[in-house]
Amino acid sequence: MALTLLSDALAHVLSEVPKPPKTETLAVMDCLGLVLAESVTARVNVPPFDNSAMDGFAVRSSDLPGELSVSQRIPAGAVAEPLAVGSAARIFTGAMIPPGADTVVMQEDALVQNERVAVLGCVTPGQHIRRAGDDISADTEVLPQGILLTPQNLGLAASVGCAALTVYRPLTVAVLTTGDELVEPGNSLGPGQIYNSNRVQVEGLLRGLGCQVQSHAALADNPETIGCALEAAAESADCIITCGGVSVGEEDHVRDQIEARGKLGLWRLAIKPGKPLAFGSVAGCPIFGLPGNPVSAWVTFIMVVKPWLLRAQGGSPQPYQKISAIAGFAHDRPGTREEYLRVKLSAGSRPEAQLAGNQSSGALSSVSRSDGLAIIPIGATVKIGDAVEVITMSDLLSPLSC
Ligand code: AMP
Ligand code: MG
Repeated sequence: MALTLLSDALAHVLSEVPKPPKTETLAVMDCLGLVLAESVTARVNVPPFDNSAMDGFAVRSSDLPGELSVSQRIPAGAVAEPLAVGSAARIFTGAMIPPGADTVVMQEDALVQNERVAVLGCVTPGQHIRRAGDDISADTEVLPQGILLTPQNLGLAASVGCAALTVYRPLTVAVLTTGDELVEPGNSLGPGQIYNSNRVQVEGLLRGLGCQVQSHAALADNPETIGCALEAAAESADCIITCGGVSVGEEDHVRDQIEARGKLGLWRLAIKPGKPLAFGSVAGCPIFGLPGNPVSAWVTFIMVVKPWLLRAQGGSPQPYQKISAIAGFAHDRPGTREEYLRVKLSAGSRPEAQLAGNQSSGALSSVSRSDGLAIIPIGATVKIGDAVEVITMSDLLSPLSC
């Protein structure tokens, strides 16, 4: 099978992104990590009234310079009285500016003696007042449809008085790992067995994108078992992700079963790690077949599945940002696949990238240790000191980019 460029496989996969799922209205607190389906418009000004940015004294600037009597005390939340001419109001951060006052003098610049306050230093009229609507004016859109609801976006919604938001229902994704050799953590390993790391890894990746996960123990390498599991998952999930069994080996049944029970596209991607990737459907349910090697599964998820999932959930992700780093390693042999090397980055504006350990497609330790992936283009070699492009781990895992 010829190698397919990642960009070609991705274009195909993205041409089959379904419409975003149905919407639901949830309490703001329950919307973290979901995508906003209906934009939010402020119904109030933020702040709603002129208020003090400091603890100090509210004054009329025309009364200065001079000594003023303290005519009222206005803590945050209190309703201020109009300010009598020639007087100052003791005021606290967030408290309403009394009608008539136009300036706040911070307490550090005031000397209080016998109920009178002397203003020290110079005062700029209007200082230390946060005007109504300074941050947000009523009737402006504060959150557009399609935005990912981060803690700060939820805070913003709350600041304009929103108690509930209309969001896209997160996708439910079934994760099916396959392999006779797999044992779930918590059990002891027999001869020839390994722990099922992909199940936890892929489920973690999905949760990080706001998906609901249908979790299953590993399936035996048996065509009927795998086929039935695919059909059962297709009934209840919005999408299925399998791991393992998509190569052309005799024990690779996922590929055959997708083909027998649905539609299959299969590529040998021109990326390393990340060999075969299947994409198709069973009973109308989209299915991604990831390779079994844990690093290959991780890379193909990050590069292909994530872009599909984010869009299928109604999001508008940005492309991964490639930063320039200085290679602290050499890569002598030009490859026929684009290579992603797990690297550690030094601090600084132009960081140095060092290999983060064993680069084999089964070695998860180096993924766990790395700060990002250095990209080695097809046919390229790298000398120590050359510039290399790196996508940082935070970008790779972010639900905002893909
Ligand atoms: P496969 O794609 O099924 O041929 O598997 C390729 C390699 O990945 C083999 O060494 C498998 O033992 C390993 N592997 C497959 N599935 C998993 C999994 N869920 N967790 C850890 N390793 C796996
Ligand atoms: Mg296998």
